[in-house]
Amino acid sequence: TYALTNKRIWVAGHRGMVGGAVVRRLASEGCEVITAGRDVVDLVEQAQVHAWMAEEKPDAIVLAAAKVGGIKANNDFPVDFLYQNLMIEANILQAAHENDVGRVLFLGSSCIYPKLAPQPIPEDSLLTGPLEPTNEWYAIAKIAGIRLTQAYRQQHGRDWISAMPTNLYGPGDNYDLNSSHVLPALLRKFHEAKVTGAEQVVVWGSGTPLREFMHCDDLADALVFLLKSYSGHEHVNVGSGTEVTIRELAETIAKVVGYEAELVFDATKPDGTPRKLMDSARLHAMGWNKVRNLEEGIRDAYRAFLAHEDIEAA
Ligand code: GDP
Repeated sequence: TYALTNKRIWVAGHRGMVGGAVVRRLASEGCEVITAGRDVVDLVEQAQVHAWMAEEKPDAIVLAAAKVGGIKANNDFPVDFLYQNLMIEANILQAAHENDVGRVLFLGSSCIYPKLAPQPIPEDSLLTGPLEPTNEWYAIAKIAGIRLTQAYRQQHGRDWISAMPTNLYGPGDNYDLNSSHVLPALLRKFHEAKVTGAEQVVVWGSGTPLREFMHCDDLADALVFLLKSYSGHEHVNVGSGTEVTIRELAETIAKVVGYEAELVFDATKPDGTPRKLMDSARLHAMGWNKVRNLEEGIRDAYRAFLAHEDIEAA
């Protein structure tokens, strides 16, 4: 086990949804959380990362910084997703090694797995088949990050680990319709339909793909659990087990927002992978199993959306 008490923990990517949730969760762990905005250190720039790390000397790092986005953004900006993510992880991990950082938790995503992986997706299906083309740029970078984390363990004995979260949502999500994931996108679309009285809401694709969703605060709880208790070469899936079709998701969101609208499925938009459910049995076997219900979670996300509406949905 790894004690967090009195440790200096750098949460890289604290302005993102996941990093923000980890910062909130660490507040009750008796550790010192350190953060740095892009104005202080641009994580794509190697010299800046090395200088900052040498100055701050964290004991542990939660690597939640990444260029992230939904199905459209990945298609539109392949260089940004591949290059920026490769640089961020390479810079941080090598600087962490040079500065003797004892503990790193690297974060990936469920899209690292092959398009036709067995469902639910076990950890060992990584690199067993071709990726889903709509997000392979991001996936390739994240797979490299997992391997790099393992490489430091193998070559230098670093007690560094990786976790692969499922699709996430919650406070601090991205509500920009061109780059967001489906849950925040539909939350915003239903909210705006309610405000304007629109009769229809457009849902991309066929509505039949299956996705698993997890509230970011549940993920943060699992990550702190792993940080304290997991030491191993293999990455660990973190999922909720809550799987719905995109159509069911839209219906749940309509209920939470309190607005009925006709769903119009836009077949010109891609479906992406048909199903993406994590096998989180390893995490459960370690003793973590604490997941809120989807509707309850979406209610919390909607509350946060309404509270920050001016900023996030501007
Ligand atoms: P993915 O999980 O990597 O495929 O990424 P997304 O969360 O962006 O998309 C998940 C599924 O939701 C895909 O089948 C999308 O076509 C579908 N979808 C339906 N409406 C929307 C929308 O308004 N925005 C996004 N991003 N996806 C949508």
